[in-house]
Amino acid sequence: MAISKTRAGPVANPLDAAIAQFGAAADRLNLDPGLRQVLATCKRELATNFPVQMDGGSTKVFTGYRVHHNLARGPAKGGIRYHPAVSLDEVRALAMWMTWKSAVVNLPYGGAKGGVIVDPKALSQTELENLTRRYTTEISILLGPSQDIPAPDMGTDERIMAWIMDTVSMHRGYTEAGVVTGKPVSVGGTLGRKEATGRGILYVIQELARDRSIPLDGATIAVQGFGNVGGAAAALLAGEGARVIAVSDSSGCLYNGRGLDVQALREQKNAGGSLSDMGGGDCLLGEELFSLPVDFLVPAALEGQITAQTARHVQAKIIVEGANGPTTPDGDAVLAEKRVLVVPDILANTGGVIVSYFEWVQDLQFFFWEEEEVRERLQRVITRAYREVCALAQSQNLSLREAAMLLAVSRVEEATRLRGIYP
Ligand code: NAD
Repeated sequence: MAISKTRAGPVANPLDAAIAQFGAAADRLNLDPGLRQVLATCKRELATNFPVQMDGGSTKVFTGYRVHHNLARGPAKGGIRYHPAVSLDEVRALAMWMTWKSAVVNLPYGGAKGGVIVDPKALSQTELENLTRRYTTEISILLGPSQDIPAPDMGTDERIMAWIMDTVSMHRGYTEAGVVTGKPVSVGGTLGRKEATGRGILYVIQELARDRSIPLDGATIAVQGFGNVGGAAAALLAGEGARVIAVSDSSGCLYNGRGLDVQALREQKNAGGSLSDMGGGDCLLGEELFSLPVDFLVPAALEGQITAQTARHVQAKIIVEGANGPTTPDGDAVLAEKRVLVVPDILANTGGVIVSYFEWVQDLQFFFWEEEEVRERLQRVITRAYREVCALAQSQNLSLREAAMLLAVSRVEEATRLRGIYP
């Protein structure tokens, strides 16, 4: 297995993990070898090296990707990541997970992902806008509301989505709001999108807590990653009375056994702070977060974080995967041995794509909903998927990941098979 050396510690290649997870579902479904090959491969991959004018007049060349995995169930949907460790294999894995994710919650989308190798924090506003507009132009042959609809991911936000929407609109000569989701509300975004992935995690944890008779009021939580997903999940869970005892970001980990003041930490983070500089708790090493004896552990940063080695130290009862691919297959096996329940990414973090779907529907209809309607519909869709996955897991004696993959792959396989091979 290839090892990425660009991040702290050895991180398995996420594409190996994605293919191993798919292979297990394909075996269970006894998939036809031809279809198996189709579903194991990304349909289309665009790689681009493009110049950006930097402040001070110099020029720098950046590398970006946009990958479509499978489009049998609908247009390509998936976020765009700005991170120094982006690689083609990572984008492929993330595109594949998007296919399964949309299928598991039954959205009419195929899977896609994009990424640029860049540290967005090292760029000025102007450089970030130049990079975004040029990257959008480079991949614009793929984009469109019926073709490919990007969204935010690590290192990108609603402001970047507004630039993407504007760039495509300038090329077309009219406003094309439905070409991207996760936009600001003032330019066709939806209410409730910003915290949607975190809110989806809350709804899943509420169901789990009910099923397992764990009172959420006072339940202990540790969250890795304090951005869009982790920050929102921590705040929403704290709002329901849960005790968030540890959160971490790329700068470090903050711990307080009595519970952290998540709202205050978020305000400081939004003002540009790092957790390592904030008070209200003790500093831990980042990896210590994984060994805390909590009711719920929410990895919401990068993929490949819970390896076999990390998993051996996990004391949490339940892991709810906020990030994409945070657990390696080896890590999963150790967690299964230890009987730690894992709610997989392709189910647990679908709040974002579900509300992105609502945003797209609203853009296509030019008819916008109240926030309450967005929340109610999100809860309905994610709870139904959670129930379907649990029922399948129980009836076939599978883990939740195996059941979610089985459900997703069977839906994508059916659509691919029914559409047939052209010509
Ligand atoms: P983000 O950029 O808003 O936040 C990422 C957070 O992780 C930051 O706080 C960063 O400091 C932290 N981080 C980075 N490296 C870390 C490390 N080694 N240890 C601890 N923390 C670290 O990104 P995001 O949008 O919150 O995405 C996080 C994960 O969730 C990614 O895997 C992404 O693919 C996935 N995801 C995001 C969405 C979404 O709607 N944004 C939806 C589904 C899944």
